[in-house]
Amino acid sequence: MQGTGGIAEMAVTDDAARAALHRVFGYEAFRGEQEAVVQHVIAGGDAVVLMPTGGGKSLCYQIPALVRPGTGVVVSPLIALMQDQVDALRALGVRAGFMNSTQDFDERRVVEAEFLAGELDLLYLAPERLRLDSTLELLSRGKISVFAVDEAHCVSQWGHDFRPDYLALSVLGERWPDVPRIALTATATDATHREITDRLRMPQARHFVASFDRPNIQYRVVPKADPKKQLLSFLREEHAGDAGIVYCLSRNSVEKTAEFLSRNGIEAVPYHAGLDAGTRAAHQSRFLREEGLVVVATIAFGMGIDKPDVRFVAHLDLPKSVEGYYQETGRAGRDGLPSTAWMAYGLNDVVQQRKLIQTGEGDEAFRRRANQHLDAMLALCETVRCRRGQLLAYFGQEADASGCGNCDTCLTPPETWDGTVAAQKVLSAVVRLQRERGQKFGAGQIVDILLGRRTAKVIQFDHDQLSVFGIGEDLSEAEWRGVVRQLLAQGLLAVEGEYGTLVLTEASGSVLRREREVPLRKEPKKPAAARGTGGGRGERKARAAAAELPEELQPAFEALRAWRAERAREQGVPAYVIFHDATLREIATVWPTSVDELAGVSGVGEKKRATYGEGVVGVLAGLASPGDAGAGGDVDVEPEPEPDWT
Ligand code: ADP
Ligand code: ZN
Repeated sequence: MQGTGGIAEMAVTDDAARAALHRVFGYEAFRGEQEAVVQHVIAGGDAVVLMPTGGGKSLCYQIPALVRPGTGVVVSPLIALMQDQVDALRALGVRAGFMNSTQDFDERRVVEAEFLAGELDLLYLAPERLRLDSTLELLSRGKISVFAVDEAHCVSQWGHDFRPDYLALSVLGERWPDVPRIALTATATDATHREITDRLRMPQARHFVASFDRPNIQYRVVPKADPKKQLLSFLREEHAGDAGIVYCLSRNSVEKTAEFLSRNGIEAVPYHAGLDAGTRAAHQSRFLREEGLVVVATIAFGMGIDKPDVRFVAHLDLPKSVEGYYQETGRAGRDGLPSTAWMAYGLNDVVQQRKLIQTGEGDEAFRRRANQHLDAMLALCETVRCRRGQLLAYFGQEADASGCGNCDTCLTPPETWDGTVAAQKVLSAVVRLQRERGQKFGAGQIVDILLGRRTAKVIQFDHDQLSVFGIGEDLSEAEWRGVVRQLLAQGLLAVEGEYGTLVLTEASGSVLRREREVPLRKEPKKPAAARGTGGGRGERKARAAAAELPEELQPAFEALRAWRAERAREQGVPAYVIFHDATLREIATVWPTSVDELAGVSGVGEKKRATYGEGVVGVLAGLASPGDAGAGGDVDVEPEPEPDWT
């Protein structure tokens, strides 16, 4: 085809981008929207990129930074991770540096000099540094290829990760009108999207929205009974030896849960804002560097953690919003291998969260918003539909109407029952206490009354004299708690004050007057089973990492992992900085006998081939190739087919 100048030019950037992808990163092709984003930015356009965690956002700015002249400046709030990010890039042969408060004067000087001399492809900066005149001054004296604003949702005041320093980033467009800007986030709601565009002043930007589905993550919600024990059996049965994150709401429960797991033979460390910075950094670093560590954390942990092989994310407490839940669970399975998002959820979660909103700080508008967030989260927990479908719908995206086949409601469809009468019993108990006695009580007392239990507290208040006493002996305690929880979730009952007492809502009347039915989800007797057959300790780990790897290649995979662990220790970097599991798997499959044969393997770029090629080939040379049946060595012997008439 005859090309105009424009098309020819396009072809050049096309080639340059693909060449960088191949040479530096060792990848065959761009994924999804990556190529469109990269072309747009290389051509000088602004971009707002919404892509799920693990979707491949980094390449969207790293490739333009490599292709365009000058240094790509990356704004990131994740100071504690900058060193690792830069190490990983250097291992690829990319000239990267960072500037943040962890450096001393001399270290910073070196980076400044490199930047000014045009010797950096990428420079990572914390947003608080960009506020400083001295930093802006410095940047003005060098050449910048692109500004990338990572974790761009931090600019959103209503979001869950607001950082005031991000607001100052609006000056970039004014000061450097000719430098393209790219804002990236894994937060997908429309509101956040609009806020990013407004606050960063990027009206001309092109918007790229990827699918937010994470098909390799299995979503599950289990009824909360004894959460620590439930967690322990979940880990033992399905994730023995795996790396993962457990989220709890309070520092206290973080500490206790980490202790509990450790006592029960699962290596776990706590992470929360109450620990000193040194301990936090040490625990984070262990999580990144060791293979099977569990971190028990408040939400303060995890943003930007790009460890690819986090196999599970567990929630012991209800997250405050669907956005938060999606972000946190999204930290599992960036490598695309099977992973689990597991949550224990119960009545107390609902009561506690409603209480927190009511008694917490913030004005009426703030409270309303917090309640809306919580409502959406509760709807996700109580749904009888596919959870993935519900999650995607929340972000305005379509899902397969027939279900995903990889969430608990798809695997074990929940049953519903007509809970109208049960709902009326609960609501009447609340009404009678209030009308006849002028009293308000929490869920525990209401359930005891319905079950006709003469507890000390029931006797103390003469509640066995109420006409509703003992009218609920047809259901178990767990079932009643399920009813109360679902009424709260549906807004048919509300929580009040610091004791979390139950009160009616405007909608309660229609249930009491029998004007509406109340369908409820049956409390599962047994939690939804996991995929496949159980598998004992440590077995699942090998299964996930070696998924689709034939058995005869397992020894090679294990040998390569051991070799990788050795290199990682020598260099003091996480193992995945050397090679990802997926890359080792492909190496075992290809079985290169020379360094050249490594060229086609995904994840092996030029630099890594030069650095590790000999090592990898050496490891495999020391093993018996699965093709070498017996003494022959270089003869491939086709096994005799089994005659099928025997
Ligand atoms: P995000 O920042 O969006 O969470 P990353 O940029 O960390 O995602 O990418 C997730 C993983 O996918 C990384 O391990 C990365 O190396 C890999 N990856 C990204 N793009 C490609 C591609 N085009 N081909 C193969 N692997 C890719
Ligand atoms: Zn599903």
